[in-house]
Amino acid sequence: MTLTRREFAKLGALSLGARFVPTLNAQAPQKKIGYAVIGLGVIAGHFMRGVLDTANSQITGLVSGHRDKADRIAAQYGVASNCIYDYENFDQIAHNPAIDAVYVALPNSMHAEYTIRAAKAGKHVLCEKPMSTNVAEAEAMIAACKAANVKLMIAYRCLYEPTNLRAVKLIRDGALGQVQAIESSFGFNIGPGQWRTNKKLAGGGPLFDVGIYSLSACRYLTGEDPEHIAAFASTIDHDGRFAEVEENVSWTMRFPSGIVASCNTTYGAPMEGCFRVHGSKGWLQVDEAFSYDGLRLTADFSGTKLDEPNPAKDPSHFTAEAGHFSRNIQDGTEPRASGEVGLKDMRYITEIYRSAGIAI
Ligand code: NAD
Repeated sequence: MTLTRREFAKLGALSLGARFVPTLNAQAPQKKIGYAVIGLGVIAGHFMRGVLDTANSQITGLVSGHRDKADRIAAQYGVASNCIYDYENFDQIAHNPAIDAVYVALPNSMHAEYTIRAAKAGKHVLCEKPMSTNVAEAEAMIAACKAANVKLMIAYRCLYEPTNLRAVKLIRDGALGQVQAIESSFGFNIGPGQWRTNKKLAGGGPLFDVGIYSLSACRYLTGEDPEHIAAFASTIDHDGRFAEVEENVSWTMRFPSGIVASCNTTYGAPMEGCFRVHGSKGWLQVDEAFSYDGLRLTADFSGTKLDEPNPAKDPSHFTAEAGHFSRNIQDGTEPRASGEVGLKDMRYITEIYRSAGIAI
């Protein structure tokens, strides 16, 4: 039984209200969104820990080729043993009401297949970046989710991260005046034998993996999509790691407003993830902009100097990201980073490779 405020006031006058207190305005608490995590590697660990801190999400399923690993993680997160799947029987999640959504945390070239299979099973999809390894796959993922009437979000966690959002707000509020130029970089020195240097699994090199953060940042910092792109790629180390993918990519973009951006990514050096934005009234910079924690915003504009270290700790980005997508599912709203946002990045990545003379 639920009562309006007026009905409750009437009952209160009759000293009967107390009996109804528990149901007054009691909106049935919304069911937590249950996620099945596909691929139990490094990023899946961050995500699952992040979900623990949400009010609206929980881990209710696991998909893995390693049953022993899945059993261990299931015990940690309270996942029932009949909610553990492998890559062959994965489609059976269609019959599991505890699973509302999947989190695709597999190597890049597997994102499209598992997104499409999840959509066909009637489950919403949170898919890791990069969305796919080419434009056609990204389009097929969007079409499959539309056909199944399920939501698709790409896991661009920086879109839910307070320091990145603070930078966007300062720019939108005009603190820097007219933005003229952006520099951004992100890379690391990769070890041998990783799937990230296997073209069939990764799609390409550091651009797909970490350069995509700089591409995405230039888009959310400007609020624009690039209209011209020019790029170079190179491989310096011929030690076997780069037989299939490039080592370095450097690219520039011009946006419709005239803002220009220059970006670098590498698998050959510990290149800090950061961006610096130059405007007519000054500059702002975010160090460790794409890290899980330790972000710091500094700025100097119109006589104002800022130095704002962000004390938040990993896995707070993932908590915000999972909470956001679960709310989208609960409220029927659209994710900030929809499949269309991911598809655009796939188009720009394709253009960067084309300009650099690399076939993907
Ligand atoms: P990882 O190697 O740690 O995990 C990959 C998982 O996929 C493993 O559990 C592995 O067993 C499983 N897998 C299934 N089939 C496989 C196959 N054929 N080859 C290799 N592994 C296979 O990788 P990761 O770092 O967790 O990356 C997974 C995805 O997440 C990638 O798409 C990556 O770009 C993305 N990622 C996102 C972030 C972020 O901050 N948003 C950070 C790191 C990685």
